[in-house]
Amino acid sequence: VATLGVTKAVPGGAPGGLIVDMDGVLYRGDQPMPGLVEFFELARAYPFALITNNSSVTALDCERKLARMGVDVPASAVLTVSDTTARYLAGAPLAGRRALVLGSPVLKGAVAGAGMELVDSSADVVVVGLDMQLTYAALAEAVRSITRGAAFVATSFDAVLLTEEGTAPGSGAIVAAVQACVAAAPVCMGKPSAAMFETAAALLGLRPDQTLVVGDNLRSDIAGGAAVGARTALLLSGVADAPVPEGPRPDYVFAGLPALTGYMRSTWSE
Ligand SMILES: [Mg+2]
Repeated sequence: VATLGVTKAVPGGAPGGLIVDMDGVLYRGDQPMPGLVEFFELARAYPFALITNNSSVTALDCERKLARMGVDVPASAVLTVSDTTARYLAGAPLAGRRALVLGSPVLKGAVAGAGMELVDSSADVVVVGLDMQLTYAALAEAVRSITRGAAFVATSFDAVLLTEEGTAPGSGAIVAAVQACVAAAPVCMGKPSAAMFETAAALLGLRPDQTLVVGDNLRSDIAGGAAVGARTALLLSGVADAPVPEGPRPDYVFAGLPALTGYMRSTWSE
């Protein structure tokens, strides 16, 4: 078995479905990971959802990117954090439907698609994600709306982005700037929060504890998946770091997709 450093008893048998992080698992930037096509040949036997904390891409963007890599996955199998935010807002008990969004055009589109009116001030809900056009004026309006009682929603607490130029502020840094000024804590939509995993599982018609979460980030994918009762598999192909004794403990650790595929084929197929 191609597991490495598994430190607790591994549950047997196939899960009801797969929830798979994309960046660092299926690809890195525009580069497909080795074994991507072979993984999907096998993964297609199970219900699966592909998830990302990136609030600047749409599910259709992800479908097209994977198609360029030779993998045919419908946008309906992709759940971005913008989609999760839209689903949450559609059912959230808000005082009104006015939304101030600090975020990408994609996030704004998703929020508008949930029946919200996009406004620049006096909002009923403030949604904060990665906003590369962020201004002081918008930050101040966000703080004012929340201080007056608006709901506070964050796409993720991911503080930094790793770019070709180096480390840059991520959505979590902008969330932190707002949070420093207000008494309220945000409701977080992205990994490691339960919202992302519960929404993905619901799309599969499953409970989170019936799924296997596959990811490359111990804190967001593994800790978040474990917190909702999912089995978790860490791939060392992305940002992770091998598990440390005091950190979240994945049920499985694989070097990359080929090792995961090999494990699935040998262990789940009978
Ligand atoms: Mg990742």
